[in-house]
Amino acid sequence: MATKPSQLDLPHGVFLVFTFLMLGIIAAGYLYYKNQKAHFVENIKNDLVTITVLKVGQIVNWRKDRLAEARVIQGSRCMPRQMEEFLDNPRKNEIRKDLKDGMLLLKKNYDYSDIFLVDANGKAVLSVVSSATEIEQHAKHMALEAIHSGKVVLTDIQRTDLSKTIYFSLIVPILLPNQRPAGALLLIIDPNRFLYPLIQTWPVPSRTAETLLIRREGNNVVYINELRHRKGTTLSLRFPLSQTDLPAAMAVLGKRGTTKGIDYRGKPVIACTDHIPDSPWFIVTKVDEDEVYEPFRESAFIVSVIIIILVASSGMGIALWWRQQKVLFYREQYEKEFEYNAELEKANKETAKTLEELRRSNDELKQFAYIASHDLQEPLRMIASYLQLIERRYKGRLDKDADEFIAFAVEGAGRLQNMIIGLLAYSRIETQGKPLEEVNSAEVLGNAVSNLKLVIEESGAAITADRLPVVKADAVQLVQVFQNLLSNGIKFRREDPPRIHVSAVQEGTEWVFSVSDNGIGIAEEYKDRIFNIFQRLHGKEYPGVGIGLSLCRRIVERHGGRIWFESESGQGTTFYFTIPIKEGKTS
Ligand code: ADP
Repeated sequence: MATKPSQLDLPHGVFLVFTFLMLGIIAAGYLYYKNQKAHFVENIKNDLVTITVLKVGQIVNWRKDRLAEARVIQGSRCMPRQMEEFLDNPRKNEIRKDLKDGMLLLKKNYDYSDIFLVDANGKAVLSVVSSATEIEQHAKHMALEAIHSGKVVLTDIQRTDLSKTIYFSLIVPILLPNQRPAGALLLIIDPNRFLYPLIQTWPVPSRTAETLLIRREGNNVVYINELRHRKGTTLSLRFPLSQTDLPAAMAVLGKRGTTKGIDYRGKPVIACTDHIPDSPWFIVTKVDEDEVYEPFRESAFIVSVIIIILVASSGMGIALWWRQQKVLFYREQYEKEFEYNAELEKANKETAKTLEELRRSNDELKQFAYIASHDLQEPLRMIASYLQLIERRYKGRLDKDADEFIAFAVEGAGRLQNMIIGLLAYSRIETQGKPLEEVNSAEVLGNAVSNLKLVIEESGAAITADRLPVVKADAVQLVQVFQNLLSNGIKFRREDPPRIHVSAVQEGTEWVFSVSDNGIGIAEEYKDRIFNIFQRLHGKEYPGVGIGLSLCRRIVERHGGRIWFESESGQGTTFYFTIPIKEGKTS
């Protein structure tokens, strides 16, 4: 048979799968993002290293070229001769002009911003552009050193005291044929013309990237080129070396390669630092972290959106799957319920049919019992009367066997009459029972006792009772119950005079009556049998037809109660029956 439908609970497993899926997607997204970022930063660092190497190479070459130029000038035969002539006759215009033309040609060919001629004392005696004959103190000092050593010198970047112009000097000491120093040429280089543009160019477009050239001055680091993000700072912007997160300071303190730091604007940067060989300069190439990570903000956004879409779609997938499961489950439940209802209806119909058949057969049985007992009484009475008549008239006249046979027939007829009477009484319990009303069970017991007065006296029975309640019952039938139980207690006695005690206790919603005797007792195995009609455990030694207890059960059940007994063989028996306190069954 189909079982009743049940509830469908969302399994924990589904939650777990969804949680793991979600965590997996987030972790995969995060790892992908992190990996991409590391890869990208690595690429940027490689770019910085490449650019640094390139710039260092270019600057070194530029310096080498400058020094090579200077050596070419130094090695020319013409220049020392002209210088000697000029220094010997400074007022001679022709010589002066020749020398100046030579210097002008040099300026033009090598793109110097000016050229000074200084004598062996460091005094400027001739210049190409400027009319001033005084040169900067620092330049004079360097020139004297160069003249003294006879070696070409490329000075560091300087700022003029007066015009504040930035310049380099390439000092070429000129030696006379007798190796006596004649003086020097000061070739003035403007870094803005070639060096600064060379440093500042960046091979790929970038918003923040730049190259810095720096040098150490005491415990400070000084920026020697024009900065991309702060103008007019050449040689004036300086930071203490103690500012260790400054990439420029790191470079000066010996750091080589890529690093992270905070630049002169206070912005986090990724940088590469190096030293320019054969020079006091250091180089820093750098780019803002902001710019580096910018593409990642976008990619982080895209990864987040993808994660959200994946999580949402996996959630939706699970939700859809769950919905489908529910639909399947409820369809199955519906089918089961349908089947269940159909079976229930079928069972109900069958029960109703069985009940109807039972009722009909019961009615027929009652009718049969009534008709049989009622209609059989008359012919039976006639048989019994005539048999008694024959007995009276022919006793002693026929032979001994005939007398005995007639006696058996008389007794059988009497017995049959008793059985028929019992059967009639049994069938009338339902049909002729009276409505249940409040009766005093003590009075009912009194009536039963007085009906049995003769037997009680004969047997010497002692009947006692406790206080008995008022119950809802059919008084006549209740008398019958007490009477049957008392008479059985007296009938099935032992040698001693019978003692019977009646009492009643309230248990829940019913009164439990008990009738106990001190008789022969009943074996446990007969506990159901003795309540059946015409069932007896004894022969002729105890008179009766076996209807008493079945009458009792029928009456008690009509009142909505139960009847049973407890006994120990040879120790007496206690019969119990119940009467409901509230409602009786009044069928
Ligand atoms: P009857 O008394 O006519 O034999 P009952 O239906 O009253 O029929 O009892 C059925 C049988 O139950 C009896 O024949 C008897 O064997 C047994 N019985 C009934 N009451 C008692 C009792 N109080 N003590 C011993 N046996 C009993």
